[in-house]
Amino acid sequence: MHFQFGSFFQDLIRKVPVFRSLKAYIFLLMLVIGVVPGAIMRIGILENYEERAVSLRISDLTTQYRIIADHLLNYNYLQDTSSDVINAELEQMANLYDGRVLIINGNFSIVKDTYALSEGKTMISEEVIRCFKGENISRHDRNNGYIEMTVPIVETVETDGKAGSVVRGVILASSSTDSIAAMLEILSRRALILEIVMTILILGIVFFFSHILIAPFDRVTKAINEVRDGYNDKEISVPDYLETEQIVDAFNQLLGRMRVINDSRQEFVSNVSHELKTPMTSVKVLADSLNQQPDAPVELYREFMQDITEEIERENKIINDLLTLVKMDRTEAELDIRTVDINSLLEKTLKRLRPIARQRDIEVVFESIRSVTAEVDEVKLSQIFTNLVENAIKYNKEHGWVRVRLDADHQFFTVEVSDSGIGLKEEDYEPIFERFYRVDKSHSREIGGTGLGLSIARSAVLLHRGSIRVSSVEGEGTVFTVKIPLTHVIAGGGA
Ligand code: ADP
Repeated sequence: MHFQFGSFFQDLIRKVPVFRSLKAYIFLLMLVIGVVPGAIMRIGILENYEERAVSLRISDLTTQYRIIADHLLNYNYLQDTSSDVINAELEQMANLYDGRVLIINGNFSIVKDTYALSEGKTMISEEVIRCFKGENISRHDRNNGYIEMTVPIVETVETDGKAGSVVRGVILASSSTDSIAAMLEILSRRALILEIVMTILILGIVFFFSHILIAPFDRVTKAINEVRDGYNDKEISVPDYLETEQIVDAFNQLLGRMRVINDSRQEFVSNVSHELKTPMTSVKVLADSLNQQPDAPVELYREFMQDITEEIERENKIINDLLTLVKMDRTEAELDIRTVDINSLLEKTLKRLRPIARQRDIEVVFESIRSVTAEVDEVKLSQIFTNLVENAIKYNKEHGWVRVRLDADHQFFTVEVSDSGIGLKEEDYEPIFERFYRVDKSHSREIGGTGLGLSIARSAVLLHRGSIRVSSVEGEGTVFTVKIPLTHVIAGGGA
């Protein structure tokens, strides 16, 4: 079986909620920051205490034994150990420092042992030898709890008029460190109790603060839930932290956009209903008036039936345009991209529309600067050009002209549709691309507009990642410019 350690931990973190909780992390972090320094301090201080107590003891002992070494020489103790004064002094030292004192003479023979066990024996250890060379040696045996030290018994002699010193013997002393260990034990116990109390206190504070610190995030969730459940439809605000403010700001912006989308959807639905109702109302009025006149002449019937047919055609056109628009709103994947000869596509479009232009004696000219092929959806592109040229004919004057100009650079091709028509006010440049927007409702209705043509054109252009612009001089004419990339850019391709 293959076992992956890393993914095991990732799984664990993902599945156990507490591992992903910010509150838990804050809690742990504060706990570590609060408790660890205390523990380090306790261990450090206690360690230091022991070292200092031992070195103090050694320096005490050294001083004392140096004085005793002088006394030993004065009383000639190395030769004769009968001095009560010195014996009492040595016993006192051994008792006071809870240890043993050995006096060794120049022949490495033990002349005095406060335990009276080794007197007369020879003592040749490394420490003793080194001490005879004048070294003060001390050693702390921590495991067995004692200090061992040697102090040389030094006599000052004068040879050839020069002062010198000779080591006559060695004091080998030990001292138990039990009292230091006992003190350490007491201190350590007190420190531990203090630390436990501190930890409990810190635990409480940390628990409290991890709650308090996280609370604004809970408030954000609560506020968002209130909006979701419909208890609140205003902008929410959690200004406690910069971070919560940023989250809430982003949420409010999203909410705002959703409101705009919702509003425009509602407006669209009401516009659609209104547009679809108008022809139906006309049909009903025409049919009703025929019904109310049973004896109406056939001519009237014919005339009214003709009107009814026109209204039904209009209704049909609106529905078709709406369907085209809805299709256009779908994703880019719906585009049927092929390499298309734009020149011949434009020529075909113009050929279809010329008969309508001819009815009003409008001349339609095609001007191609270069031949262009591009990766586009032919049907959608034809919709763009048909709508633009149709408009250029519809909103033109009798005996006017329409000019279609095709050009390209290495990246884009441009189609310019100009006319000698009624023109547009600058304030209408933007809204004419909105659904159902018409500059002059009655006039537009007369010439059979639905108000959807330009929004269809704009959607198709945007699907191709192109742009559409308009400029116009009122009463003189309008120019629509469409710019589309020659090669299709796939969505999400980083373009
Ligand atoms: P419609 O079906 O009414 O033509 P469009 O969306 O195609 O709808 O156009 C919207 C409005 O823009 C038109 O009603 C018209 O007022 C204005 N418009 C479009 N093209 C032209 C043009 N070439 N010249 C002047 N006005 C135009």
